[in-house]
Amino acid sequence: MATLDLAVDTAARRDSPPTTPLDLAIHRRRLATLPDPSHSTAMTKVIGFHYTLRDEDGQVLDSSSGGDPLYFIEGRQQIIPGLERELLLLEDGDKRHIAVSAADAYGDVNPELVAQVKRSQFPPDATLEIGDQFTVEAEGAGPVFTIVDVDAEHVTVDGNHPMAGKALMFEIEIVGLRDALADELSHGHVHGPEGHEH
Ligand SMILES: [Zn+2]
Repeated sequence: MATLDLAVDTAARRDSPPTTPLDLAIHRRRLATLPDPSHSTAMTKVIGFHYTLRDEDGQVLDSSSGGDPLYFIEGRQQIIPGLERELLLLEDGDKRHIAVSAADAYGDVNPELVAQVKRSQFPPDATLEIGDQFTVEAEGAGPVFTIVDVDAEHVTVDGNHPMAGKALMFEIEIVGLRDALADELSHGHVHGPEGHEH
C-alpha cells in the first residue's frame, strides 16, 4: 500500500457516489479504445437503446425501464467500450443479453490506487466516514477517491471506480438507429427529442 502525499480538497467531496454506470460510463481515463480514424463520418450511427444492468449475482444495478432510452454517437466513448462494440452489431428492434467483462467496462481493480493518507491532511473539522468520496483537485476535476477505512492517524482511500473489477450483464433492446447528423458530429452529442434540443 502506497502512501500518498496529497492536498485534499474536501470541499469538492461528493456526497452521492457516482454509481450510475452508464452515466459515468465515461470515465475516459479508463477507456482504452479510441475511435477508428478510418471510420467514415458518413456512416457514423446514432443508436438508442433501453437497458437493464445486473451484476453477476443478478442484482439490478441500473435500468432505463420506465424512462427514456439512452442514445449515443458511435465511436465517441460515450458508453463503455465492451457494450458499444456489441451494440454496433445489432439492428433496430433487436433484443440481447450482453455480458461485458470488467476489463471492457470500468477496468480491473488497480491496487496501486489504494493509499493511506495522514488524517492531518484533511481539514480538522472534516467528518471522515467510510464511503465518503472526494477529489484531490479543486473543482472536482481529478479522480474520485472513496474512503474505505479510517483510524486515529490514517485514512485509507481507494481511487478505483466503484464498478471496477465487476463484470456487467446487460439486457438491452435497440429502439433507435440512424445516421448521425453533421452538427451532432461536430457538437459531440445527440440532438433532437432524444438528446440536446438547441
Ligand atoms: Zn449540439
